Amino acid sequence: MANTLLQVKHLVKYFPIKKGVFRRVVGWVRAVDDVSFDVYKGETLGLVGESGCGKTTTALAILRLEEPTKGEVIFDNKDITKISKHNIRRERKNMQIIFQDPYSSLDPRMKIKNIIAEGMLSHNMLNKQKRYKRVGELLERVGVLPEYMDRFPHEFSGGQRQRIGIARALALEPKIIMCDEAVSALDVSIRSQIINLLKDIQNEFNLTYLFIAHDLSVIKYISDRVVVMYLGKIIEIADKKALFSNPLHPYTQALISAVPVPNPDYKKERIILQGDVPSPANPPTGCRFHPRCFKVMKICSEVEPKLVEVRKGHRVACHLLR
Ligand code: ADP
Ligand code: MG
Repeated sequence: MANTLLQVKHLVKYFPIKKGVFRRVVGWVRAVDDVSFDVYKGETLGLVGESGCGKTTTALAILRLEEPTKGEVIFDNKDITKISKHNIRRERKNMQIIFQDPYSSLDPRMKIKNIIAEGMLSHNMLNKQKRYKRVGELLERVGVLPEYMDRFPHEFSGGQRQRIGIARALALEPKIIMCDEAVSALDVSIRSQIINLLKDIQNEFNLTYLFIAHDLSVIKYISDRVVVMYLGKIIEIADKKALFSNPLHPYTQALISAVPVPNPDYKKERIILQGDVPSPANPPTGCRFHPRCFKVMKICSEVEPKLVEVRKGHRVACHLLR
């Protein structure tokens, strides 16, 4: 597709499990196991799934902050996985990531002006005076008083620190920003302020977002399309409207049934999933969701369902839909 910014193709990331004094590899955590999706220019693609399903690893492998085990990542017509380690930094300028906890990602010993200017400095953008001028402009844009640029991260609230994290990401004029649980730790009122800020700057700076969250209500608010992951696999991809009005995978149905509805008169049936998420070191055979699925059939434990397009733009990996 002409307006595709990022293509993830058969991305795999396994982590070795080592044991004993010789640190022998005794198994693999299959954190991301053959994941493919496209991100279109200017959209917000939501990536959702329970904790441990591989969302963060997907983002880190795309950026090669974790080396992918296999697969291709085509960004702006270049295969990121084939670029030398030395040149990858230059590509990363275009792909920024914002984490859940800005406190641990902002160096506590650095003034925020240097935190925000650091990337510009390492990419030789602007001279010192212009960099700080730009820091001021960026702070103003994200809603932090520019006069505070000489302060340290601990002098700010969680919401303000997330604004500073956004300013730092914006400083490099990226094409895509991956927001990894960027608002998950914030209070509800602060959360909506930050989401609105992200939406505003998206239009202003022509940004594309990969928006990662375990919470579907946040995903519902911000995304154009949604990818649902379960235990290292994609189980459903659809437009947000289609996904929420007509979820096809039993797992997606269960997740959506658990989202609180604003109208208390409207009672919907909540699907409670049995059991815990199995370990990605030893995933179930066939469909990885089958031990918890309320619509399980015989074939589900035997054959892995492929992700197939059942309606335009709506893909699902489930034996019910074949
Ligand atoms: P999510 O972001 O969806 O919560 P993660 O991508 O963080 O999930 O983790 C996916 C799986 O990979 C989990 O089982 C996690 O324990 C494992 N994992 C993540 N990072 C590492 C690592 N560096 N070494 C070993 N296992 C890891
Ligand atoms: Mg995560």
